[in-house]
Amino acid sequence: MAYDDTNIFARILRGEIPCKKVHETEYALAFHDINPRAPVHVLVIPKFPAVTYDEFVAKAPAEAVAGYFRAMGEVVEKLGLVAPGYRVLANTGEHGHQEVQHLHFHVFGGRPLGPMIKRID
Ligand code: 5GP
Repeated sequence: MAYDDTNIFARILRGEIPCKKVHETEYALAFHDINPRAPVHVLVIPKFPAVTYDEFVAKAPAEAVAGYFRAMGEVVEKLGLVAPGYRVLANTGEHGHQEVQHLHFHVFGGRPLGPMIKRID
C-alpha cells in the first residue's frame, strides 16, 4: 500500500494533532494510545514514512531502523517495564487488523498480560 501522509500518525508527527508524548528522538516518537488496552499502552512510531514493518526495514536507512528500535528500548526503560516485563506488537495489514496506515508498535504493560492471542481454529 502506498504511504498516505494524511494518516493520523503523520499528522501527529507534524504537530497538527496533539499527543501525550512519552519519548522523542531523531528517529521515533512515542505517545500514549488514546484508547488504552492496558495500564501502560504506548505507541512507538518511526519518523520515516512507511505503512508496515516489512516496508520500513526494506526502505529506511540502516541508522533509521536502528534508531527506531533503540528508541523503543528507551521507552520500555523509561516506563519501568524492564523488570516486570511487557509486550510489543505491530498489527499489520488486513489480516493483522491494522487501523492506522503508518507503522507503529504497541507497547503494553503494567499488569500480567495473559497469553499472546486467543486461539480460534
Ligand atoms: P492498530 O492500527 O494497530 O489497529 O491500532 C491503532 C491504534 O491507534 C489504536 O490502539 C488506537 O486507539 C490508536 N489511535 C488512533 N487514533 C489515535 C489518536 O489520534 N491518538 C492516539 N494517541 N492514538 C490513536
